[in-house]
Amino acid sequence: MSEGRRGGRVVEITSLANPLVKDIKALAQKRHREETGAFLAEGLKLVIDALEQGWTIRTLAFAKAALGNAMIEKTAARALAAGATVIEASAKVLEAMTRRDNPQTVIAVFEQRFAVLKSFRAAGDDLYVALDRVRDPGNLGTIIRTADAAGAKGVILIGETTDPFGLETVRATMGSIFALPVARASEAEFIAFAKDFDGLVVGTHLKGAVDYRKVGWAKKPVVLLMGNEQQGLTEALAAACSALARIPQAGRADSLNLAVATGVMLFEARRLALSLGNAT
Ligand code: SAM
Repeated sequence: MSEGRRGGRVVEITSLANPLVKDIKALAQKRHREETGAFLAEGLKLVIDALEQGWTIRTLAFAKAALGNAMIEKTAARALAAGATVIEASAKVLEAMTRRDNPQTVIAVFEQRFAVLKSFRAAGDDLYVALDRVRDPGNLGTIIRTADAAGAKGVILIGETTDPFGLETVRATMGSIFALPVARASEAEFIAFAKDFDGLVVGTHLKGAVDYRKVGWAKKPVVLLMGNEQQGLTEALAAACSALARIPQAGRADSLNLAVATGVMLFEARRLALSLGNAT
């Protein structure tokens, strides 16, 4: 075992009974994430991105078999210098910590971070996505990733939602959880925020009166409000919108999947801003 500059340490673990293994494994449970204020991210690229964006790392674990990989060793040294515990893990220990058969060679525990709703301001053509009681982790992760790709400035989670720091959600964000601020709000807090928001609050509704291509998105700050997977938007939230938009559908499906509908809306809202001239 050795010490890092700010008290970080390196430990080698081969036993599944080690308490550090149990702690990381327990991050699969929401209760444990809440108690510790931490979450698990998997993959070297994600971990490097998170460190670069200033997220606080508590633990980094990598496969002992990867010793000698310059990028992994550099990242481990950086984590150590930041005060993290660095674990050299056997393959079976990494499998246990991630609950996966073929785990990534690097995983890390970071501190959770939520944005304050008030910091989401109506400026320029800033775009935010608000989600009413989103339940499905895959949907939430996909929406955070898509919102990031569309250049949105933040995501607002309204009411009881799935945990943005759950394992499945973080995986589905593909790293965008580290790039896009996420704020939480009760329904009443969101309605107050929407009233003060100096821009468009566009709700999406299967009975929306406005075709989503005719909203008049250009050059205005926008909050795009999406409904719950089963129930759609509550009446109170629908009433707080400046417009209710609909994506016309053909065929027998009665609605689109929430993440797909969000993607369609986001890229329509950003159509003028995202031309090949000013996006990658
Ligand atoms: N049974 C729900 C209802 O009646 O609203 C269906 C909800 S749908 C699966 C989940 C969310 O995706 C909706 O609340 C809305 O935000 C969005 N959505 C899905 N299809 C849409 C469409 N064709 N137009 C606008 N929004 C849509």
